[in-house]
Amino acid sequence: MKIMAAPSFLAPRRISIKLILVLMPLVLAFSLLIVLLGPRYFRIQAIHELEYKSLSIAEMTAYSLAPALYLNDRPTIDEVISSVRKSPDLDYLVVSDGSAKPPASYGLEAAVRSRYLEIERAGISADGLVYGVKVPVIYNDRKLGDLHLGFSMKRVYEFIGNLKRTLALVGLAFFVIGLAAVFLISNAIAGPLRRMAQTAGRIVEGDLTRRADVSSRDETGDLARSFNTMVDHLETARRTLEQRVEERTRELKTVADALRESEELFRSMVQSMGEGVGIVDPDEKFIFANAAAHAIFGLSEGRLIGLGLDEFMTDEQFALMQEQTRARRRGQKSAYEVEIKSADGKSRTLHVSAITRFDRDGTFTGTLGVFSDVSERKWTEISLREANERLRLSVKELEARTAEMTFLSELYDSFQSCKKEDEIYEYSAQFARKLFPETGGTLFIFNASRNVLEAVARWGDAAPVPEFMLEDDCWGLRRGKAYVMDNPSTQLICRHVEQSGRTPAATICEPVVSGGQMMGLLYLEGLPAASGARTDFARRLWAQLAANFRERISLALSNLRLSEKLLQQSIRDPLTNLFNRRYMEETLEREIFRATRSQLPLGVIMIDIDHFKSFNDSYGHEAGDAMLKAIAAFLQDQVRKEDVACRFGGEEFTLIMPGAGLPIVLSRAQFLLEQARLVHIPFAGGALGPVTLSLGVAMFPEQGRTGGLVIHAADEALLKAKRSGRNRVVVSDR
Ligand code: GH3
Ligand code: MG
Ligand code: MG
Repeated sequence: MKIMAAPSFLAPRRISIKLILVLMPLVLAFSLLIVLLGPRYFRIQAIHELEYKSLSIAEMTAYSLAPALYLNDRPTIDEVISSVRKSPDLDYLVVSDGSAKPPASYGLEAAVRSRYLEIERAGISADGLVYGVKVPVIYNDRKLGDLHLGFSMKRVYEFIGNLKRTLALVGLAFFVIGLAAVFLISNAIAGPLRRMAQTAGRIVEGDLTRRADVSSRDETGDLARSFNTMVDHLETARRTLEQRVEERTRELKTVADALRESEELFRSMVQSMGEGVGIVDPDEKFIFANAAAHAIFGLSEGRLIGLGLDEFMTDEQFALMQEQTRARRRGQKSAYEVEIKSADGKSRTLHVSAITRFDRDGTFTGTLGVFSDVSERKWTEISLREANERLRLSVKELEARTAEMTFLSELYDSFQSCKKEDEIYEYSAQFARKLFPETGGTLFIFNASRNVLEAVARWGDAAPVPEFMLEDDCWGLRRGKAYVMDNPSTQLICRHVEQSGRTPAATICEPVVSGGQMMGLLYLEGLPAASGARTDFARRLWAQLAANFRERISLALSNLRLSEKLLQQSIRDPLTNLFNRRYMEETLEREIFRATRSQLPLGVIMIDIDHFKSFNDSYGHEAGDAMLKAIAAFLQDQVRKEDVACRFGGEEFTLIMPGAGLPIVLSRAQFLLEQARLVHIPFAGGALGPVTLSLGVAMFPEQGRTGGLVIHAADEALLKAKRSGRNRVVVSDR
């Protein structure tokens, strides 16, 4: 509800003035009432009294005059008139009967002047100077005329004049007294209130020791007492409050200290944090940033403040970040990664956790973000992912490799069982089909004279390479290491491949080498079906597998060749390359066993060079060796395929002739005896010799049923030949 404002003159500040303003008009009105209405009231009263007196006199006069008039008794009339004239203030007396001359009159001129005839019963005359009355004069029920009496108003006017002055004084006195009363009353009412107001004013100013000193028993007194009680309460409350305030102030000080400490702690924590902490305003400009944030953005401390985030980002990244800010303002949580380019030119990935800041009115004031440089982690993640992928592929490849290793191991076992090189070739082709199911190939091996390479095994859909090739035809052989050709347009193509008439997309030429010596070539054609990133890896593995396979073949071949060589060394005499004595004895046992079974004869010739010692002595040991080699070669040349020539020891030799009867053996001994003399033994630019032999012949089963017995018999025959002059053949006679 709207309170209407009172007109300003009705709303003065002080109650006393209010009271005066209200009571003064009343006093004034009352005073005026006395002054103005008082005379009027007394005039009416006076006129009323005049009327009553005039009428009484008139009626009494009319009654007295009636008979005299009726009788026209003049003396009586005059007497009556003179008695009436004694009445004070009588101005006129006229009896009118309608005739021109009134029968009785007194003061007629005055009556006429006052126009007495116009007055009906009673009233003030037209000139206002007279109060006139008119009563009929009746005698014996006959109206004799009207009696008009006029009394002067002079005394009435004098009285009223006096009265007016008196009442004016009374009114003035009333006004003055009223005014005084009003002041007193207003003071009586407003005085205590004013004092209370002053007290209240002092209290308001803070002086709670003040009390309103109003002791009256009226409402103001009650009000003052209540006011004082209220102030007492107020003071008590104030004291309590002050105490509380003191306590609270102390508490607040403690809290403020704690707060300052914690703020210090927080500030130093934020400053020393490894993570970057930054606050940006709504325009994404930094208003706070800790040391780590500066380091991340590549700026020295303090220089980040005022810079906008857009200065460190591409437009795209900045838009992404702003989208995050909008999402947060919609109440969504926000943690994201963003790319920046710091002032030192480094690109970094930041992981950001941000909260949106609002002031008390809910207005958006910016963003607080905690961010860390995750570039390394990101890089590690990518590397890890790649490593995982590589590992996955490796595992897959490993499985394939395991299978290949299994094949290679099987191949090794198979090669182990090979007794001949042909078997190795056979197995090589067989396993190549398993190891390289998608490709074809050929295995070349040098021939005995090492001038050409011979294709010893083929597999798959290999190009029809020639049966023979030269070492110079292959880049692998020429360079002595694997040659991988997987780009025919840029790489050299081996001639042996060109000769096939077609050019495969890729080839591998793996030289088969052992102990530094070239043994042959493993040729593989085409690459396994591989795609994408695996290509290089797969090719590498494929080449490696080829190398492994080649290695196995090399090993198998060299092992076989080595064992053959060892075998040779264990059965042959190193100087003469004839079988040695141990081999001869084993062979002799085997041949005797076979001869026994087949019932065929067997001849043994023991041969000794005559006077060999003298060659040694005359020309030296080397000359002796040369002679031994020459005789051995001579013997080797003279024996048949099934015969076995051995060096028995020193300059003695043994010839075993399975299936040969004595005549054949004897003729062979004779032949050797004769031919030996012709053997040319070159030495030191010249020739040694000639040389002669002594030979002892023994036969199985005639001279014994064991090898030992037959050899012994032949040795005895040889001894006989020596003793009987040398250069001859002696047949055992046991
Ligand atoms: P005879 O006619 O009685 O057989 O006489 P010889 O000199 O041939 O026989 P002897 O048994 O007296 O001498 C054999 C010599 O052969 C003794 C040895 O020095 C020599 N000799 C044995 N083995 C070799 C060898 O491998 N090389 C050389 N140069 N000499 C050897
Ligand atoms: Mg001898
Ligand atoms: Mg001899």
